[in-house]
Amino acid sequence: MAAYQLAVAGLKVLVLEAGRTYDPVRETPMFKLPRQAPLLGAGTKHKPFGFYDATVDGGWEVPGEPYTNAPGTDFKWWRSRMLGGRTNHWGRISLRMGEYDFKPKTRDGLGADWPLTYQELAPYYDRTEMLIGVYGGDDDLENTPGSPAGVLQPAPVPRATELLTKKHAAPLGIPVIPAHLAIMTQRQDADVLPKKIHPDNPLAQRVLAQSMRQRAACLWATPCGWGCSVKANFQSTTVLLPPALLTGNVDIVPDAMVREVTVDATGKATGVNYIDKTTRTDRKVTARIVVLAASAGETARIMLNSKSSLFPNGVSNGSGLVGKYLMDTVGAGIGGQIPALENLPPHNTDGASGMHMYMPWWLYKEQLAGKLGFARGYHVEFGGGRGMPGPGIFGGMDALTNGAYGKRLKEEARRYYGSWMWFDGRGEMIPNEDSYCEIDPNVVDQWGIPVLRFHWKWSEHETKQAAHMVKTFAEVIEAMGGTVNEKVETDGAKVIAAGGQIIHEVGTCRMGTDPKTSVLNQYCQSWEVKNLFVTDGAPFVSNADKNPTLSILALAWRTCDHILAEMQRGNI
Ligand SMILES: Cc1cc2nc3c(=O)[nH]c(=O)nc-3n(C[C@H](O)[C@H](O)[C@H](O)COP(=O)(O)OP(=O)(O)OC[C@H]3O[C@@H](n4cnc5c(N)ncnc54)[C@H](O)[C@@H]3O)c2cc1C
Ligand code: SF4
Repeated sequence: MAAYQLAVAGLKVLVLEAGRTYDPVRETPMFKLPRQAPLLGAGTKHKPFGFYDATVDGGWEVPGEPYTNAPGTDFKWWRSRMLGGRTNHWGRISLRMGEYDFKPKTRDGLGADWPLTYQELAPYYDRTEMLIGVYGGDDDLENTPGSPAGVLQPAPVPRATELLTKKHAAPLGIPVIPAHLAIMTQRQDADVLPKKIHPDNPLAQRVLAQSMRQRAACLWATPCGWGCSVKANFQSTTVLLPPALLTGNVDIVPDAMVREVTVDATGKATGVNYIDKTTRTDRKVTARIVVLAASAGETARIMLNSKSSLFPNGVSNGSGLVGKYLMDTVGAGIGGQIPALENLPPHNTDGASGMHMYMPWWLYKEQLAGKLGFARGYHVEFGGGRGMPGPGIFGGMDALTNGAYGKRLKEEARRYYGSWMWFDGRGEMIPNEDSYCEIDPNVVDQWGIPVLRFHWKWSEHETKQAAHMVKTFAEVIEAMGGTVNEKVETDGAKVIAAGGQIIHEVGTCRMGTDPKTSVLNQYCQSWEVKNLFVTDGAPFVSNADKNPTLSILALAWRTCDHILAEMQRGNI
C-alpha cells in the first residue's frame, strides 16, 4: 500500500523484497484440480496448505532462516518469502475495527488505547475498501461498523449451511450477518471509483482506472488461496503493484534481504543495507525516507539489528519497546455433523472461496458487566457444505457408516457429503509483557543476520475466551440438531491455538502518545528517527478480534498522507 500511495503522489519508490518476484496472472494453478497434484494436493511439511497454495516460497519454516523459541514457548511464525507476501494466499476476511477497539483501556482498564479513534481511520477504511474491492452487507452493529453506501460490493447469496446456522443461532441470541471479504462480486466502476478514491490526483485516477479495468468479478469456483489470475480478490501483486508500476515511479528489487536501517550522525535514516541473495553480496541503498513493511516480526528484527552508536539497542528503540507486546489472534474451533444437511440434492455451494456469512461478537454488554469472566470478544468464522472434494473429504465418515464398503459406501458417501460443519472463533488478545520477540544472541541465519527469539504467554482472558468459543459452538451445533465431533473441552488452555498459529501477529513497535511508552506516533512515524515509518502490523496497540489486514492497509494509507504532508512542510 505504501509503495502505491507514494508512487501515485509522484515520489520515486524503491521496493526491496526478500523473496522472489511472483505474478499470479501467469503462475496461479487456480484452474487445476486437487486430484491433478501429487498426494492429491494434501498438505505436507513444506506445503502445509496444500500443493497448489500460493505461498510459493516460505511457510512455517524458511530454509536457512530459522527463528528460536525461549524455553516453554511454542510460537509459530509464518513467513511468505515472495513479492506480495502473505496477501497472495490470505483468507481475504476484511473486518473494520470498531470504536471500542481503538480505546480498549478506556472501556475496561486493560491493555492500552490507540492514539487515534475509529472516526479518524474511517475515511481510510472507506477508500481502502473501494480500492481493493470488498463485499459485505449493510449491517452496522455495536463495535462492528458498517461502511457508507456505495463503498462495499454486494454480498454473495448465502449458502444452505449459512442459512441453517442463522436460523438456529438466532434463538441463542447470536447474529449471523454477511461477511466482509476482499473479493469482487462485480467489476469495479473504473469511470467513477478512481475519482472518488483520489479526488485531486489525475495520475492516480489514470493508473487506477487502467488497473481496475484489468480486474474481473469472481468466478465463484476456484480457491483464493491458490492465487487469482482474474484479479477478483485482493493480493498486493494484482491490485496495488500494477497501478504503482504504471506510474513509472516504482522499482522493485526481488531477492533483496534487508539487514538494517542506516542512520547518519544526526540520527536521520539514510537508507538500508541489504543482501542480494542471488550473489550473496552486501548492498547499500540511500533514501530520503525509509518505510518498513516486512511484517510485524521482521520489522522488529530489522530495527533491533540496526545498531549504531546513537542507537545501541536498535534503531528507534530508546524506549526498549521494539519487539514488545507481540500479539496474535485467539483461535479455537470445533465441528459437528448435521443430519439436516444429509442427502441434499447435488448442487454447487462453492461460491466465493470463503465465508458468505459470519457471526460478529454479540456479548459486549454482558462482558462489560463482568458476566463472562474474560475481557474481550471474538467473532465466528464457520463453514461446511459441498465444496470441491479434496483429500480427506470423507474423514470421520467411518464412525457413521460402521465400515460399509462397495455400493453401500458410495450411498453413504452421497448421504453424508456436505453434512459436516466447522466453527472457528477468532478473538482478541490483550497485549502482555510476557509475549515478545528479541534477537537471539547465539543464532544467525544463512545471511549472517541474527534471528528472532520468541517468548509467549496467553493470559486467562484468552484461555477462558477459547473455552467460551467451543462451548458456544457446541450449543449451536446441537441447536441445529447435530452432533459435535469431539469432546467439548472446558479447559481453554487445552483448545487454544499456539501463539502465531492464526497468523495474525501484530504489535512489536506499538504507536502511542508518549515516546517513553511507544515506538511510533499515531502516524506510524518513529519518535526518534523522523524519516523512518512502519506500515505493517507492528504499530498495532491491541489486536481486536477483527482480522488485521484491512486495518494495516488503511493505516498505511494514513501514514503515507502524513509523509507527504511532512515533506511539504519541510520536516522530513
Ligand atoms: C493462510 C493465511 C490466511 C490469512 N487470512 C487472513 C484474513 O482472512 N484476514 C486478514 O486480515 N489477515 C489474514 N492473514 C494475515 C495476513 O496475510 C497478514 O496480516 C498480512 O499479509 C500482513 O501484511 P504485511 O505486509 O505486514 O506482511 P506480509 O504479507 O508477510 O509481507 C511482508 C513482506 O516483506 C518481505 N520481507 C520480510 N522480511 C524482509 C526483509 N528482511 N527484507 C526485505 N523484505 C522482507 C516478505 O518477503 C513479504 O513479501 C492470513 C495469513 C495467512 C498466512
Ligand atoms: S473464488 Fe473468485 S476471487 Fe477467489 S480465486 Fe476464484 S475467481 Fe478469484
